[in-house]
Amino acid sequence: MTASGEGSAGRPPEVTSPAIDVLGWLADNRELIDRGAAGPVIGGGELTVLLVEGRGPRRDYHVNSVAELFYQLRGDIVVSVRQPGRVRDILVRTGELWIAPAGVPHSPQRPVGSLGLVVERAREPGTTEAFRWFCAACDAVVFEVTGGHVQPAELRSGVAAFNASVAARTCAACGTVVPGPGD
Ligand SMILES: [Zn+2]
Repeated sequence: MTASGEGSAGRPPEVTSPAIDVLGWLADNRELIDRGAAGPVIGGGELTVLLVEGRGPRRDYHVNSVAELFYQLRGDIVVSVRQPGRVRDILVRTGELWIAPAGVPHSPQRPVGSLGLVVERAREPGTTEAFRWFCAACDAVVFEVTGGHVQPAELRSGVAAFNASVAARTCAACGTVVPGPGD
């Protein structure tokens, strides 16, 4: 321990960022959000803050190697959480906080018109995140999109490939077919 107030990492960073008006940011970045690029409002440092608008039901589960803090700004959401042998639904209402623990598959069902913040810390280099589809009959992973930081476009093309192919939607373990979007 030193008396100078400086840690072993040297001087703390200079503060340059002003506070951000979240709803103002949303209004200014409407086009970005409409293209599916959910934030980040603030990112690139130790923490990333994403603004997420509701897009309706989804079947995929997000698996992250770090915990995620959910803060619901507008509208209630239900987060489906998969744990060995069971699926739980967690209700997160306007003004409520919830944490998705690291490594737990979670599928936020965000109604259109809802708005939430998601805060996560930077992941270590080499770690990944995944979007997984599970077999309803046997719980096996049927399909996944994985990467260091999965971009919205990558996820969308993965989802399109999955939806278009019955083979991709067929569980290798038990043969059950995950329903497509129109089924
Ligand atoms: Zn199966």
